[in-house]
Amino acid sequence: NLSKRLAAVAQFVPQDSIVADIGSDHAYLPIWLTEQKRLKGAIAGEVVAGPFESTQTHVTQWHLEDQIQVRLGDGVEVLNPEEDQVTCIVIAGMGGLLITEILERGLAHLNGHERLVLQPNIMEPTVREWLMKHHYAIVEEAIVAEDGHIYEVIVGEPRTEAVELDEADLVFGPVLRRRQPIDFQLKWSTLLNKKRHLLVQLQGAQVTPTEKIATVQHEIQLIEEVQT
Ligand code: SAM
Repeated sequence: NLSKRLAAVAQFVPQDSIVADIGSDHAYLPIWLTEQKRLKGAIAGEVVAGPFESTQTHVTQWHLEDQIQVRLGDGVEVLNPEEDQVTCIVIAGMGGLLITEILERGLAHLNGHERLVLQPNIMEPTVREWLMKHHYAIVEEAIVAEDGHIYEVIVGEPRTEAVELDEADLVFGPVLRRRQPIDFQLKWSTLLNKKRHLLVQLQGAQVTPTEKIATVQHEIQLIEEVQT
């Protein structure tokens, strides 16, 4: 069975997708989706030798070589936009900056119709900003707590027109801030407490730059506003 985190990712891969799982490592996601008969096809990409071997080994153990193609290479550059007909790209379990770098470097390898299911471990706003800049609408989001960490999943779909997100959308997520699930409340109330303590410390210190104080005050205000 999948971890809570990967299950949260898997729910956003539509039935009958041709999925590309970039940075697949153990290939748990494409293996599970294939076993559940959710896919028309799958490509698992890995750039590092060790994890690549792990991808291959797992796919072979499950006898899924015909359903899951394992490819060695950097990011989405393992994809051929004409031949592969990928409908959904998953990039999960990495930092948000790395996810956006992978997408940016690989733009020429996208066919432009793929749904992007992204699960950054950190720097979620960077991912949302990249999606907005490249005219992807954020159509779904999820948040799950597992092993003491809170993970967010962000789903983008290409649009022809520009997509507008304000600062609160980028920070909290347009879908999550509207729905405010329990793990969302937990994440932001914890962060709010931390930032309030930090502010007191900064204000009590001898030489805190005023911009630093202003930044933390602004962050606190944003969270207070989203909670109301
Ligand atoms: N996606 C799986 C998951 O969510 O459980 C595995 C996550 S694992 C922590 C991140 C994987 O991404 C590593 O196996 C790493 O080798 C791979 N990776 C990092 N940069 C990559 C890149 N530019 N292209 C392909 N894979 C990459």
